[in-house]
Amino acid sequence: MASPELATASAIAAMVAAAEEAETTETHTDELTVLMSHIGLETFPDDCAAIAHYASLSDVVIFVEEVCRLQVDHNAIMSLGRNVSFFTNLTFLDISNNRLTHISSTVLQLRRLKTLVAKNNLLEVYSLPKEFGSLTSLETLHFGGNSFDEFPMQLIEMEGLKKLFLGANQITHVPVQIGQMTSLEVLYLGGNRLKEVPATVGYLQKLTALILCNNQLRSLPSTVCQLKCLQTLSLHENRLTTLPPELTKLNLLDLSLRGNPLVVRFVQELAFHPPTLLELAARRIKIKNIPYSEVDLPRSLVSYLSTGKQCVNPNCKGVYFDSHVEKVNFVDFCGKYRLPLMQYLCLPNCTAHPVQNSDDDSDCDGDESAVASAERIKKVLLTQ
Ligand SMILES: [Zn+2]
Repeated sequence: MASPELATASAIAAMVAAAEEAETTETHTDELTVLMSHIGLETFPDDCAAIAHYASLSDVVIFVEEVCRLQVDHNAIMSLGRNVSFFTNLTFLDISNNRLTHISSTVLQLRRLKTLVAKNNLLEVYSLPKEFGSLTSLETLHFGGNSFDEFPMQLIEMEGLKKLFLGANQITHVPVQIGQMTSLEVLYLGGNRLKEVPATVGYLQKLTALILCNNQLRSLPSTVCQLKCLQTLSLHENRLTTLPPELTKLNLLDLSLRGNPLVVRFVQELAFHPPTLLELAARRIKIKNIPYSEVDLPRSLVSYLSTGKQCVNPNCKGVYFDSHVEKVNFVDFCGKYRLPLMQYLCLPNCTAHPVQNSDDDSDCDGDESAVASAERIKKVLLTQ
């Protein structure tokens, strides 16, 4: 453990109480900033001593309660406890890159705290006080690079929170209640273990950036397409095979899709496994509306028949079961991208483009116009 004297001496060296030197893009010329980064602190400063010492050297009298912005990042602090409550006027606290495992309920006394940066610590769900959500002044919360394996439910109560960073944790599930966080403008959930995102994200109408990269998402709820303010949608390194077609109606500035099957697979030969006789028979029953019941057929066949899916070609009456053609359809998007949308079709000669309807017996009407050639695919612009 570093001696208090050493810490204090280092603190004096490190404390440059000049707002213009604070690491921020905003200016806070009228806010007193104390920098105590990289000085080996093992406990949160109860910093009457350090600040008094500083004051005597600089002829500037500073009281703990005058400090508005405090940076104690890159130290070895393990707990955010009682001492923090002395800083009653704190609006910004950066305690990132420490060894934080615990935040005590005294943090709730920071009634003016707008930004809490606690990234790259050892926090988990049980590290937070139950009442953490009553820290309603908070607008920006950085909890990235911690050990959260669940979404901290207290955050749901923070109705004023605008920016939430929870990247690089091990979160497996986003609660449906996230739809209550209607002030959110930035939601960063990249680098977790999410398999899905609840449809309620569509309620976050102020969202401008939704970061979901480096997860295990297989699909995206179509409600994302209701986020009219959304400018950045980060989806790279997931397991997406499809995107909601309505996505093309959003006015995105940035969209990242690399590292998804959706993108990877379309450069390969699009495989088509011929349907089995069972599937062919079942398709015929569906297309011809041949009546059947459990009296006529074994239950397993009735059950199989219920799994039929409609071909996405609006002019095709085709149905498929286990065998389908995966095909990438390119859609103009924001005038900037050609967005590949994976589609499932009943037969190779079936396209999703409107084609002449006919009443003949064919399972599927075809047209070759939309075949996405390899050359064309290579020209697709995908960001990042
Ligand atoms: Zn079809």
